[in-house]
Amino acid sequence: MTESLVAQTESSAPSEPSPAPYVVPSGLAVRLARRVVAPARAETQASVSPLTGGHLADLPVSTIDSVDHAYRSAREAQARWASQPIAARARVLLRLHDLVFRNQNELLDLIQLESGKTRGQAFEEILDVAGVCRHYARKAEHYLKPRKRLGAIPVLTQTVELRHPKGVVGVVAPWNYPLSMSVTDLIPALLAGNAVVVRPDEKSALTALRSFELLDQAGLPEGLLQVVLGDGPTIGKAVLDRADYVMFTGSTATGRTVARDAGERLVGASLELGGKNAMYIAADANLKAAADCAVRSVFSSAGQLCISIERLILHEAIADEFLTHFIKRVRAMKIGPDLAWGNTMGSLISQAQLDKVTEHVEDARAKGATVLAGGRARPELGPYFYEPTVLEGVTAAMTCRDEETFGPVVSVYRVSTDDEAVALANDTSYGLNASVFTKDISRGRGLAARIKAGTVNVNEGYVSAWGSNGSPMGGMRQSGVGRRHGAEGIWKYTESQTVAVQHLMPIAPTKGVPEKLWAKSMVLGLKAMKAGRIS
Ligand code: NAD
Repeated sequence: MTESLVAQTESSAPSEPSPAPYVVPSGLAVRLARRVVAPARAETQASVSPLTGGHLADLPVSTIDSVDHAYRSAREAQARWASQPIAARARVLLRLHDLVFRNQNELLDLIQLESGKTRGQAFEEILDVAGVCRHYARKAEHYLKPRKRLGAIPVLTQTVELRHPKGVVGVVAPWNYPLSMSVTDLIPALLAGNAVVVRPDEKSALTALRSFELLDQAGLPEGLLQVVLGDGPTIGKAVLDRADYVMFTGSTATGRTVARDAGERLVGASLELGGKNAMYIAADANLKAAADCAVRSVFSSAGQLCISIERLILHEAIADEFLTHFIKRVRAMKIGPDLAWGNTMGSLISQAQLDKVTEHVEDARAKGATVLAGGRARPELGPYFYEPTVLEGVTAAMTCRDEETFGPVVSVYRVSTDDEAVALANDTSYGLNASVFTKDISRGRGLAARIKAGTVNVNEGYVSAWGSNGSPMGGMRQSGVGRRHGAEGIWKYTESQTVAVQHLMPIAPTKGVPEKLWAKSMVLGLKAMKAGRIS
C-alpha cells in the first residue's frame, strides 16, 4: 500500500485541532496537471484545502478549443476500444479495482484534503469505486450480450437485440465525492465501449486526476479518457454540449439547464440531482441502533452527500427516548481536520456552503425553531467547520423545511401513525433516498414501497442501497432522471438495436393468396398465440 502524502499516517491518533501543514508534493501536482487537456501556456487555478484554507496546487484551466481537441482524440480512440472484446475491457477495470486498494492511503489523503471529510467517510469512496469496478467488470458481458427476442411470427422471424456504445460520453462530476463521483460513472460507460470526456469539479480535481492516472496504469488505451478542467457554466457546459450522451451530477437547478440543452440536441441524459431525504423511526424500532445510524446518515461528509438524511420523522411513542439517544451521540461527535482515522465529522467544502448552512439555521431559529444541538460555526477547527445541528419545530415558513441544505443540519418531526409518516416523507418535491427503522421487516418493506424515493433503506440510512451495485439507484421527481448501477446503469450508455431476420415466407400475402384470406389466417394465428400464451 502506498505512503500517505503527509507526515500523519493511518496509525496516528486524531490530535487536537491545529493548522496542519498539509501539502501536495509539487512533483505529483506537476505530473497530474499534464493529464489535463489545456493550452501549453494555460491559465491556472489554485486548488485549496477546505480543512485549512491552505494552497494545495495550481492546475491548468482548459479552453473551448481544449474541449474540441479532447472530443477529436476521444472519438479516434473509441472506435478501436469498441472493437475489443468485452472481457478485455473488463480486465482493465479489474486491475483498477486492485490499484485503488494499493494506492489507498494516497487517495484517502487527497479526498480528505480536497473535500474536508473524515478518513472514514473518504474510505466509503474507496469501497464504492472497488465495488462498482468489480460488479460491472464481472457482469458487463451478461448485461451487453446479444439477446434473443420473440420474433413477429415465432420460428419464421428470428429477432436479436444488440447493444452498441453511444460514442463519446460527456461527464460533469461534482466536488462532494472527489473519487466516487469522478470514477464510478465512467466505469460502465467505458465497459460499454464508449470513450469519455470528463470535467471534474475544480474543487476535487487532484483526486480525480490521480484516479485517472490509475486507470491509465490499469491499461486504459491512450486517448480514451480525456480530462478538461474549468468552470461549470463554460467548460462543463461545453463538455456536455458535444456529448453523445450526457452524465451530470449536481443540483436540481443546474440539472434543469443541462436537461434542456440535451433535449434541444435530442441526446439522452442521466441526471443525478438533489434530495431532502427522510428517515422514519417507527414505534417498534431498535432505538439505539437507529440513533447510531442516524448520526452516520445525517452527518456523513458533513451532510454534503446527496443521499444523506435531512429529515428525521419520529413516531411520537418513541420520539423522546430516541432523541435522548440521538442528541447524546451528536454531542459526542469528534469533529476535526486530521488526516487520520477516528473523527466522525469534518469540514464543509467552502465559504458558500458555510453561508448556506448558517442561513438555513439562522432563518429557522429566527422563525421559532428550537436548536437541540449544534447551531454554530467552529472557525477554530478550520475556516468552514460547522457543528452537527439538530432542529425541532421547523415549519413551512422556514427555508430548511423544503430546501436541500446540503450540510450538517437535520430537522425533527413527530407523527402518530405510519400513514402520517409516509405522507410526511412524500411531502417534498424531491425523491432521492429514504430510510425506515422497524423491527418488523415486512412492515418495513411495505412502508418502503409507499415512499416516493429511488432508494429506500430498511434499518439503514443510505449505505445498503448505495452499495447494492446490481440494483438501480437514482432519483424520482425533482431528484433526477436515469439511474446508476445495475442493468439500467450500463444500458443507458448504449443504443439498443433490433435485428430481425425473416425466414421462408414474408409477413404479407404471398403470391396468389387473396388479401382477405391472408388477413383471416393472421387473426387465427394471433388468437392461437394468445391461447398458447406466446408473448
Ligand atoms: P451545482 O449544480 O451548482 O454544480 C454541480 C456541478 O455542475 C459543478 O461541478 C459545476 O461546476 C457544474 N456546472 C454548473 N453549471 C453547469 C452547466 N451549465 N453545465 C455543466 N456543468 C455545470 O451543484 P453543487 O452545489 O456544486 O453540488 C451539490 C448538489 O449536487 C446537491 O444538490 C447534491 O444533492 C447534488 N448531488 C447529487 C448526487 C446524486 O447522485 N443524486 C450526487 C452528488 C451531489
